[in-house]
Amino acid sequence: MKISVIGSGYVGSVTAACFAETGHEVVCVDIDKKKMDQINEGIPPIYEEGLGELLRKHAGKNLTATTDYESAIRKTDISFICVGTPSAEDGSIDLSIVRAATASIGAVLAKKKGYHVVVVKSTVVPETTEKFVLPVLEETSGKVAGKDFGVAMNPEFLREGKAVYDFMNPDKIVVGAIDQKAGALVSELYKSFKCKVTLTNPSTAEMIKYANNSLLATKISFANEIGNICKKLKIDTYEVMEAVGKDSRISPKFLNSGAGFGGSCFPKDVKALIGKAKEIGYSPVLLESVIDVNEKQPILMTEILKKKIGNLEGKRIAVLGLAFKNETDDIRESRAIPVIAELLRLGAKVSAYDPMAIENMKRIFPTIEYFEKAKDALEGADACLVMTEWDEFRQLNSEFEAMKEKIIIDGRRVIKTKNVDYEGLCW
Ligand code: NAD
Repeated sequence: MKISVIGSGYVGSVTAACFAETGHEVVCVDIDKKKMDQINEGIPPIYEEGLGELLRKHAGKNLTATTDYESAIRKTDISFICVGTPSAEDGSIDLSIVRAATASIGAVLAKKKGYHVVVVKSTVVPETTEKFVLPVLEETSGKVAGKDFGVAMNPEFLREGKAVYDFMNPDKIVVGAIDQKAGALVSELYKSFKCKVTLTNPSTAEMIKYANNSLLATKISFANEIGNICKKLKIDTYEVMEAVGKDSRISPKFLNSGAGFGGSCFPKDVKALIGKAKEIGYSPVLLESVIDVNEKQPILMTEILKKKIGNLEGKRIAVLGLAFKNETDDIRESRAIPVIAELLRLGAKVSAYDPMAIENMKRIFPTIEYFEKAKDALEGADACLVMTEWDEFRQLNSEFEAMKEKIIIDGRRVIKTKNVDYEGLCW
């Protein structure tokens, strides 16, 4: 099939590359020309395991990239909207980018002959596809949904860092369509995948994505709350959760307590669902607590630090790990951000290290010191805070020798070294 993918960030570039790998003809569209040039040269615009290989294989063949909506929509039968859906000031969903992308598609559909399906892959709150995207398409194209064009919602469940693997090996594929024709066309795209398509309506598809992410975020905040209680009782929360996770109704995943969840999805999606619930007159107390626990958790790191070394004014604090999780360069909502902000507020000097995310973090904190090796960030430090679960941190040992004071506060339970003043966040 001929597919256009609108937006070439984490979801868009992976979706495009993976559909190209499954034999489709794919055109990427983005307003960022640099990203389009990169994709045309086979260079991934973001770091994702396996993405570079796929782009090199398909770029210039069955995968091309352009900033021109007109040519892309005209030569394809189906368009996936993969643009960002950030949080507005009040936490509710900001649909302005979705609106812009939708209007650009609609303007081309106005002139295009033949049936075309527009699929929302961006994470949008229930009712968005039918009550927002569909009317914008009708208004800008002058055509009728269900007759002249199809509309569907196909949420994405990939994990950053494992996005290509997850796209190719999905646990679930959800397609919510306004009618049978659109649903069948989108489902057809996935026929080579070893996973049954859950076919439903757009609002249900949208809600499945939010329920999924909210439940995972809830597990993390739950584990963090149990961890905080365990620490006070001198109980090892990891031992507790390992046993709890053996219950087949629960599963052992997402039960590691630590500095909380970040990333482009969990915080934003839980807040967006809270916003939607309030809009329809429901007070989502559980979801609000999930966010509350998550916002307090990283600040516990600096509280432990203050207890250990007192006034932080002028103290050199090494922060190991900037990405919101390991295996990615993405720092969006990383728990290192509130921690660094708090350290700076308290007058500390920050020396930071991350294997991948330094360039991205420089945009948020341009003035702190960044190092290419953990050892160099640790040199002369009065303490070290560990914020990301990078595997290489498990091997750190002699690197701590160069610290002025060997105080380590671990937010991810990764440090194995002995003979240091070690304290875990919840253990
Ligand atoms: P992103 O910010 O990495 O990428 C969005 C892209 O859209 C950017 O390249 C941007 O230049 C482009 N863009 C902006 N305006 C545009 C326009 N008018 N026309 C064309 N392109 C435009 O976002 P992302 O992380 O890929 O997320 C996209 C959506 O997918 C969001 O709704 C997100 O919640 C959802 N999602 C993300 C993940 C994830 O792990 N990142 C997983 C599942 C779902």
